[in-house]
Amino acid sequence: MASVEIRGVQKHYGGFHALRDIDLAIEEGEFVVMVGPSGCGKSTLLKTIAGLETVSSGTLFIKGRDVTRLEPGERGIAMVFQSYALYPHMTVAENMGFGLRMARRPKAEIDAAVARAARILRLEEQLDKKPKQMSGGQRQRVAIGRAITRSPDVFLFDEPLSNLDAALRTQMRVELATLHVQLGSTMIYVTHDQVEAMTMADRIVVLQDGNVEQIGAPLDLYDNPANLFVATFIGSPSMNLIKGKVKTVNGEAFVDAAGTLLPVGGKHTVTEGQEVTYGIRPEHLELADDGFEGKVGVVEPTGSETMVFVHAGGKDILALFRERHMFTPGQVIKLRPRKDAAHLFDATTGKRI
Ligand code: ATP
Repeated sequence: MASVEIRGVQKHYGGFHALRDIDLAIEEGEFVVMVGPSGCGKSTLLKTIAGLETVSSGTLFIKGRDVTRLEPGERGIAMVFQSYALYPHMTVAENMGFGLRMARRPKAEIDAAVARAARILRLEEQLDKKPKQMSGGQRQRVAIGRAITRSPDVFLFDEPLSNLDAALRTQMRVELATLHVQLGSTMIYVTHDQVEAMTMADRIVVLQDGNVEQIGAPLDLYDNPANLFVATFIGSPSMNLIKGKVKTVNGEAFVDAAGTLLPVGGKHTVTEGQEVTYGIRPEHLELADDGFEGKVGVVEPTGSETMVFVHAGGKDILALFRERHMFTPGQVIKLRPRKDAAHLFDATTGKRI
């Protein structure tokens, strides 16, 4: 039985179609990340699961129970927001025990649940503090603690790390992943940050304009993006995308992009003259004497890697090298896509070929 099942969910805000026929089954214990650009509908989808938004049509099940018409408090979920939403006049312990107090649970049970959450989140020394005496990361841990004390069937996270600085975000990412392993609970997490999605998710749901573009394990999406949108959205730096036409030279298929020949590799079925978008990830380009020529533009050495923009095929292509190279702007170098690393997309539909 799926932990959460979303069947044919639609959401209209007046004339605006925010969710378009969403189907999704989330397994018990899965960490699913919903990702997409601003306005794609990810928060709306999370809120419909939480019961903070009604659906226009469709059905929602949590642990096999139809919760579509139930109040948030009856759904067995706990939600963590970007804004923490802590009560400023309550201590950490009071904030964490709030849900159980509202549910009129016995004091001993509340104390035990708060102590357990504090232990898991390393907040034992902070229980008597007020939120304003804590850092952003600590406050977010309290908000997560408040969710843990309720022992929900499903945890819902709405961009919980967005208010934190970069270093703290990285640390909290690890903490959340560890928490997921410790608790083994089903978690649904919304973010616009594809790095968070890639690093934390068992499966990622990519949304755009209220549609699910693709669902899959992070590396599946990285290696086999279903369309140009997913190819562009997943991966940092982004995949290079170059428009051109299929051309056969000496029996081998290439994409001719403004005179630059980019090898298609063996795994795509293409026809002569077909208009396509050629995709190659920056780390899948290597220096090779039989590669295509390009002129070096901006060079960005970061220490661990070197990024270099190379003008070829009518645009600037980014190549990323783990080993150190000394490039100088204006220099002509030859690049070859790694064998079978090329992605091809239909020029009209954007779908993977
Ligand atoms: P962000 O990352 O910016 O929060 P999102 O992907 O979470 O974006 P949603 O908040 O789900 O986006 O909103 C999806 C779309 O629905 C947006 O275009 C938004 O303007 C619209 N929308 C959301 N809530 C309402 C509402 N209460 N009334 C009307 N339109 C809404």
